[in-house]
Amino acid sequence: MDEFIKLLDSGLDYVNHEIIGDTIVIHVVSNRAEVICPYCGCASSKKHSVYERSFQDLPVMGMKSRIILSNRKMFCTNPTCSHTTFAETFPFIRPKAKKSSRLLDRIVDVSLNVSSLNASDILKNGIADVGKSTICNLLKKDIPLPEKEKVIKVCIDDFAFKKRHTYGTIMVDIDSHRIIDLLPSREIGDAAEWLSAFPNLEIVSRDGSVSYHSAIKQADRNIIQISDRFHLLKGLTDAAKTVIASLVAANIGIPASASHYEGTETTDYWEKDSVREDFPTREHNANCEKKR
Ligand SMILES: [Zn+2]
Repeated sequence: MDEFIKLLDSGLDYVNHEIIGDTIVIHVVSNRAEVICPYCGCASSKKHSVYERSFQDLPVMGMKSRIILSNRKMFCTNPTCSHTTFAETFPFIRPKAKKSSRLLDRIVDVSLNVSSLNASDILKNGIADVGKSTICNLLKKDIPLPEKEKVIKVCIDDFAFKKRHTYGTIMVDIDSHRIIDLLPSREIGDAAEWLSAFPNLEIVSRDGSVSYHSAIKQADRNIIQISDRFHLLKGLTDAAKTVIASLVAANIGIPASASHYEGTETTDYWEKDSVREDFPTREHNANCEKKR
C-alpha cells in the first residue's frame, strides 16, 4: 500500500488502512524533514501541531478511496516573515480542497460528456462521492472559455434563470458542442453587443425568434443565420397540426350502415356459440341483410 501512496506523493508514508462500506480509508503522514513556508519561502523543521486532513482520491482496486493525512502545522523561523505559523502544503491537492487534483481531473473528464446529474450517478458508483452542484461549480471554475477570436460557428438559444420571469442566452460551439458563453439577457441590444464581441463569427444557428434574427443582423450583417433542426421540426409539426386541425373535424361520425365487411353473411366463425351473441357479429350480419 505504501507504493500506492508514493504514487500520489513520495513525501507521504503509509500508516494503516480500513474498509468502511464501499470506501477504503488510508491513513498517511508526511515524511519531509523540512517544510517550505508558503509566505516567505524559508524552510522550517519546527513543528507546531498536527491536525487530520481528510480528502477523496482516485479509486483503489475498484473502491472509492479517502485519505486521512496527519497534516503538520509548522513554525516559520524567519523573523521577517509575515506569518509565525503555516500549514504544510502538498502539490497533489489545493489548500482546503476536499478532493485531490487528479480526482478533480477525473470528475471533469466524466462530466464533460454527460449531464451533471448523470455524471454524479456514474461517479458515485465506485469513483467518488460528488453531487451535481459540485460538478457544476467545478466545470465553471476549471473549464477555460475559448478565445473569442477562435469562435466561428455557434448556436444560440434562450434559457430560463426563472421560468416566465428572467431569461438569458446561451452560446454553444457547433463543432465541440461545448458552451462558449452565457449572457444574462435575451434583449436585442444586449445580444447584438454580446455577439459583436466575437469578431470572427461566420455562422449562427438560432431558433425562429425575431429578436435573435435582429440581434445577429445588428452584430454583423455578413453572419449566415441558420434555423436549427429542433426548431425547424417543431415549427413544421406545429404548422402541420394546425393545418390538419383546420381541415379535419375533431370528431368523425361513422354511418351506422357502413361496414367494411362485404359479401354474404358468415356461417362458420360467426356462427360459433362463443361469438354468436357478440354485438359486432350481429350488427355485421344485420348490415348484410339490409344490402340484400
Ligand atoms: Zn515564513
